[in-house]
Order: sequence, then structure tokens, then C-alpha cells
Amino acid sequence: MSAQEKRVMALCEWEDRWQTGRTGFHQPQVHKFLKKYLDKILHGQKSIRFFFPLCGKAVDMKWLADMGHTVTGVEISEKGIKQFFEDQSLRYSEEQVPEIPGAKVFKSADGKISIYQCDLYKFSSAIAGKFGGIWDRGAMVAINPCDRQKYAALLTSLMESDCRYLIDTLEYNPEQYKGPPFLVTEDVLKQLFEGACDIELLQTADGFEERHRAWGIDNLTEKVYLLTPKKQ
Ligand code: SAH
Repeated sequence: MSAQEKRVMALCEWEDRWQTGRTGFHQPQVHKFLKKYLDKILHGQKSIRFFFPLCGKAVDMKWLADMGHTVTGVEISEKGIKQFFEDQSLRYSEEQVPEIPGAKVFKSADGKISIYQCDLYKFSSAIAGKFGGIWDRGAMVAINPCDRQKYAALLTSLMESDCRYLIDTLEYNPEQYKGPPFLVTEDVLKQLFEGACDIELLQTADGFEERHRAWGIDNLTEKVYLLTPKKQ
């Protein structure tokens, strides 16, 4: 087993990152690949239900809601969720989720954005139904490698039959950095999703930024794929 496969980040370590402001993964602008490939996700539909696994405070959620879509996110950090609503100047309510002990849901006043504060693996389609679109940035690459099967099974179970799942992955030399984010190759995606979905590589780009030098890597490739459920 490689060092990355063995690495496990506990939920409290993520919370600690939020508490100490170590959230370098957050981007202040809408992600360029979400913008570029939004039409592929929508495939002609005007307004769909989006799912954001491990959403953090991604500004992309507000961008989609402003276009008339509804967005459901799951994030463990209450601090991150509150920052999202505050940064976006959105009024929100907070309530318990009876189906998930200890979980809360934070909803924008207009009802367009709901963020569940819980461990992703406690979430299911029984809580908020299925989705027409999924935007996976900093999610598949952030989960512990040992949880990948569980993650793929959950995400697959949340897809409507005409869902489009856009996923942003990273490739770099895993000997140089332990993650997260972890290396996720096309082979990994195939192992996890090929039974349920067609997988199309949309774009390969140089994703290296100066901040990545601190990880000890000198090279980072970003790849974006579109997953479409196989016809039954
Ligand atoms: N998608 C966001 C955040 C990426 S970082 C973005 O692109 O900015 C990963 C996020 O997942 C962190 O905010 C962390 O708090 C959260 N997280 C990690 N494991 C989780 C889990 N098992 N359940 C819910 N949230 C989790």
C-alpha cells in the first residue's frame, strides 16, 4: 500500500483547519471548469438540483443559485458553513435533521441553498432526494483513499438517471506529497464508477500554482471528467 492509500484525515483535523484558517483550498472565484462545462451538466435543462459533496464555502453554490438552480451541500464544519452564508450576505436558518442524529441543515432564506452539517457518509437520498447535477471539486480528492468505494457508492446513489457529474481531479507525484488533496487517476475513477457510469475526460490542464511549492511538488495536472449514468 502506498503512503497515500494509508493516510487518514480525521474529521476533527478538518475542523481544526477551519478553526485556524488553513483553508488554502478555497477559491474566491467561480471555478473556471464549472463555468466552462456548465452546459454539459445542464444538457438543455433550465433549472436543476445540484449536489456539492464536501462543499466548504464554495462560491460556486451562490453562482448556481443565482441562475435559478437549487443547491444542496454537505460539509462537516459549521464554521465553514456559517462563513459561506456570511461571505455571500445570505440570510439563513438553522434546524436539526431528524434522520441524522446530531446533524443540522443550514438553509438560505430563499430556500435555494441547503447545506447539511454532518459526515458525508451519514447523508443519503432518503434525506434530500436525488440530483440532476453534481460538482465535485476538492471532494473526491479530499476524502480518505480507504473510503473511496463508500464514497462512489454514495455518489452513485444520489444521481438521477439523467444526472451529469462533473469531477475535478489532480495528478502529481505522490512520493513528493502525502495529501490531501490526494492523487486521483483515471484508472481509479474507472475502478470506482465504470460499473455505473460512462466516464469522459473533458480536459487536461496545468494546475500548478505557487502555493503548491510548499507541498514539495513541482508539477500538478488538473483533469476534469464528466460522468453520466449508464442506460439501464
Ligand atoms: N469543495 C470545497 C472544499 C474542499 S476541502 C472547495 O473546493 O473549496 C474539503 C472539505 O470537506 C473541507 O471543508 C472539510 O471540512 C470537508 N470534509 C472532509 N471530510 C468530510 C466528511 N467526511 N464529511 C463532510 N465534510 C467533510
